[in-house]
Amino acid sequence: MPLNIKIVLIKTWHPGNIGAVARAMKNMGLHQLALVDPVDFPSEEATNRAGQATDLLENVEVFSTLAEAIADCTMVVGTSARDRTLKLPSLTAQTCAEQVVEEQEAGQVAIVFGRERMGLHNDEIQQCHFQLNIDANPDYPVLNLSQAVQIVSYEIFKASKFAQNKPTNNSPYPLNSELTLFQEHLQQTMTDIGFTNEKHPGLAFDHLKALYRRARPTKKELSILRGFLNAAQKN
Ligand code: SAH
Repeated sequence: MPLNIKIVLIKTWHPGNIGAVARAMKNMGLHQLALVDPVDFPSEEATNRAGQATDLLENVEVFSTLAEAIADCTMVVGTSARDRTLKLPSLTAQTCAEQVVEEQEAGQVAIVFGRERMGLHNDEIQQCHFQLNIDANPDYPVLNLSQAVQIVSYEIFKASKFAQNKPTNNSPYPLNSELTLFQEHLQQTMTDIGFTNEKHPGLAFDHLKALYRRARPTKKELSILRGFLNAAQKN
């Protein structure tokens, strides 16, 4: 499922940055790019810097104001290299990613990036719900625009993969007591079928215990494993 997350660039001065942003986004599985009043676009330089992400440039949405670009959004995050005096709740790249991946299921999300020289104006920050600050060297925390987009998109990519791996309500994780019962069953089966010697069990069982903890089987997977152990014991 494509993520409902758009990257909005405000008044980008350098077309190469627009191309580099498109590439950074596509590398990380994002597709919606919106430009507010770009200084030089379309441009050959943007296309050159986009690599194989020129489709994002072809489908780009261009607006004359930020308000229009985010009119359809339910959550808007403004990015800034500096702490603002305006007190918006502030997010790190990681907490932002976790939150937008969750919220984009219910509505369109926008992450807004400012001008190369001036960043975001206060009236633009005021249109956001959150501000995002990428942690960096306090002596020089200002990233290149496309590199800031790269980091934010990478965190979103990681968070969305994590979300996909989470069990759904249809296949929740077992209780710890159920996992313990499975482990006892496993240990018993290992002796029953002669894989381990009850008197000299060695470390094999401990290794398998760690393996099943790490793998975090769902309830359903655990019940399949229990069935498998039953069959092994019968035979
Ligand atoms: N002089 C400007 C810097 C703009 S850099 C300022 O102080 O705001 C261009 C854009 O890249 C910023 O508007 C922001 O969107 C993004 N950016 C750069 N460094 C960032 C950081 N450390 N955290 C979050 N966004 C950053």
